[in-house]
Amino acid sequence: MPARILDGTALAAEIRATIKQQVEHLKAACGITPGLATVLVGDDPASHAYVRSKRKACTEVGMESFAHELPATATQEEVVALVTRLNADPRVHGVLVQLPLPHGLDAEGVLGAVSLDKDVDGFHPLNIGRLCMKGREPLFVPCTPLGVIVLLEKAGAPLRGARAVVIGRSNIVGLPVAMLLLHRDCTVTICHSRTENLPAVCRSADILVAAVGRAEMVRGDWVKPGAFVIDVGINRVADATRQTGYRLVGDVAFDEVKEVAAALTPVPGGVGPMTIAMLLHNTLEAAKRYASRGGSAP
Ligand code: NAD
Repeated sequence: MPARILDGTALAAEIRATIKQQVEHLKAACGITPGLATVLVGDDPASHAYVRSKRKACTEVGMESFAHELPATATQEEVVALVTRLNADPRVHGVLVQLPLPHGLDAEGVLGAVSLDKDVDGFHPLNIGRLCMKGREPLFVPCTPLGVIVLLEKAGAPLRGARAVVIGRSNIVGLPVAMLLLHRDCTVTICHSRTENLPAVCRSADILVAAVGRAEMVRGDWVKPGAFVIDVGINRVADATRQTGYRLVGDVAFDEVKEVAAALTPVPGGVGPMTIAMLLHNTLEAAKRYASRGGSAP
């Protein structure tokens, strides 16, 4: 039987509708409008597109969004000064620094400057540290990894005791996804570019998460029958039939894997929309915590 396709667009729409109601409630109850500030350094077109879609999503649920752009020549001090200013701005409940930063900037230093209370991307070293420790709770969980877990949980994937394989060990996706699966009692293997016999390791997985950035790398015969497969990858492949000249595919060979897996996310329309929904979720949480600390509307 072909795999169930896990529709991230539909699930994200449901989550956004709930968030919209909660934003209205927060406004009515304490006059606070959740606000997200985006910090974009340089002129990478993909980063500009991501920030645009995050800002649009904020507006759609009734949140404020404050866009800040700096040139690629900005110094570390200038970027940190902007972040520090946003930390102190009572209209801003979440600060998002769009990655990657241009060469020459120290991302860890910039991310470490974001106030813990406003770290809605969950990339502050302390939040990542807490995520990696047993019994510690980060204030915020990174959005894409959280989206992966919500997709799995909503799909009813049995996580406790399951064998999970994560391909990719980046700080942004692979590592935090692996930690979240571990906290849900999966037995987790993290694979990377030096992993030997990757197909065989993948075949052992009840839960397989691909976060590599290589078009259709995971083939049908890499997947255990009945596995839950989450495809985080976003890759452009040439396609002369499209006006753009390309189409987007994931790290998973969709047509092959859907014949083997129990459930599978598409690309686009799987993890991508969930990432933005989780950013809105984290921003709302930040605003609610601000309100519960007695914070008032500016
Ligand atoms: P990255 O380049 O930082 O990390 C890639 C990881 O894959 C590395 O850990 C590397 O060791 C591993 N890898 C590379 N080649 C490999 C191979 N041949 N075999 C096994 N492992 C290999 O990338 P990233 O930031 O983690 O992103 C991964 C993918 O996820 C990209 O396609 C990116 O566009 C996508 N992404 C999607 C979203 C979303 O919202 N859907 C968010 C972030 C990233």
